[in-house]
Amino acid sequence: MTISKEKVVTLTYELRVDDNKGDVVETVKEEKPFVFLYGVGLMLPKFEEHLDGLKATDKFEFTLKCEDAYGLATEEAVMDLPKNIFEVEGEIEEGLLVEGNVIPMQNDDGNKFNGVIMEVGEENVKMDFNHPLAGDNLHFAGNIIEVREATKEEIEHGHVH
Ligand SMILES: [Zn+2]
Repeated sequence: MTISKEKVVTLTYELRVDDNKGDVVETVKEEKPFVFLYGVGLMLPKFEEHLDGLKATDKFEFTLKCEDAYGLATEEAVMDLPKNIFEVEGEIEEGLLVEGNVIPMQNDDGNKFNGVIMEVGEENVKMDFNHPLAGDNLHFAGNIIEVREATKEEIEHGHVH
């Protein structure tokens, strides 16, 4: 069976930045493989494109340009926020506002974003909300472990059970 729309794909991979010599960002091994429903918009489209037509035991290796992955880092995603929004009952938790800390934040619409603290000033905190892999080309190398039909229920739910 080959990978196509609405198949459940099990795979392993090693993700590096730039190319096959770049720093390892993530390693997914056979003991705890990655399983996903193919072709339903859960994954980066270019990632899926490279797996199209592969079958169990096939190997893959490809690089996604940052434009096809998490995009370029933008200035707009770097924001100055007033310090008082970090207060809980009038106090800012000690050790919270430290350069490099990653803090989960929520906007007015309830969407959640992770922000990295870049600078802590008197009144404001500069935070970077760019995806950690924005601006990076991503190099994937791995193996297809299994390809199977999705169940009717999995297709209805849009995810693997
Ligand atoms: Zn479900």
